Amino acid sequence: MAWVKFFKKPGGNLGKSYQPGSMLSLAPTKGLLNEPGQNSCFLNSAVQVLWQLDIFRRSLRQLPGHFCLGDSCIFCSLKSIFTQFQHSHERALPSDNLRHALAETFKDEQRFQLGFMDDAAECFENILERIHLHIAPDSETDACTSKSCITHQKFAMTLYEQSVCRSCGASSDPLPFTELVHYVSTTALCQQVERGIERSERPRAERFGELLQAACTFGDLRNCPSNCGQRIRIRRVLMNSPEIVTIGFVWDTEQSDLTEEVIRSLGSHLNLSELFYGVTDEHAKKSDLLLVGMICYSSRHYCAFAYHSKSSKWVFFDDATVKEVAIPIHVS
Ligand SMILES: [Zn+2]
Ligand SMILES: [Zn+2]
Ligand SMILES: [Zn+2]
Repeated sequence: MAWVKFFKKPGGNLGKSYQPGSMLSLAPTKGLLNEPGQNSCFLNSAVQVLWQLDIFRRSLRQLPGHFCLGDSCIFCSLKSIFTQFQHSHERALPSDNLRHALAETFKDEQRFQLGFMDDAAECFENILERIHLHIAPDSETDACTSKSCITHQKFAMTLYEQSVCRSCGASSDPLPFTELVHYVSTTALCQQVERGIERSERPRAERFGELLQAACTFGDLRNCPSNCGQRIRIRRVLMNSPEIVTIGFVWDTEQSDLTEEVIRSLGSHLNLSELFYGVTDEHAKKSDLLLVGMICYSSRHYCAFAYHSKSSKWVFFDDATVKEVAIPIHVS
């Protein structure tokens, strides 16, 4: 099961402190209903985090049109939830239309079907992929350059991987690919934490990006491209500057004893130069991303935390329940 962690660039309001007693309210933050048997918590959590991502919410609002699929249109049903978030007077709204659209869209694959629980990170990723298809249906997923495609303009990490042999200098052909969620194994992450504790003085949360990179490449050894006999690590290089970076933590078992270790490793800042072996984009080299959202899974249930930039507060979303929370991870 996955945890998702979202980072985005510091926005205009992010540093502004909340004034107690001011007229600033947490609206529009509303819950999403999850009736018994619906098992929609995975979808509700993904939608809440998307809504709270200022960059995503504003970009979606500004889009002029899309390739519509009518009754089973994920784009339309997401947009309709967003409109209701903004204008409805209800405290909690149904997410049924989006649930139906998702079930209809993935009918053949038997995924995200009505009444069944599913994975929130994969749901989040699939919603983004669908948005790409609704906006730029003719464009290849891995080579989408459409300026209006929120998915690829804001979320996609354009990477290439290559192995370079330190012993004989041979290198493999660079293999380009695109990622919307950067998945990291929690087992590998905790192994890196243990190795790092012996070697480094820096607190682990400050080395979060490095730990993630090490966890991603550790154990992934390839043969030297010229077969000199060396086993070498793969290098991943980031070529663009994504505005939102999503990390998906992969748990090897449903009941993991690594939860506490993983939480202690989370940093509130993420440096892209640390996350990847190399970064070619000048903007990306300098960017310091801030944690703004999390989707968590425990006891067969998903909930979400998101940073509400207008009030500089963290908000907890558990289906229909919405609460303002104090979160120990510091965002400044
Ligand atoms: Zn539509
Ligand atoms: Zn696209
Ligand atoms: Zn070699």
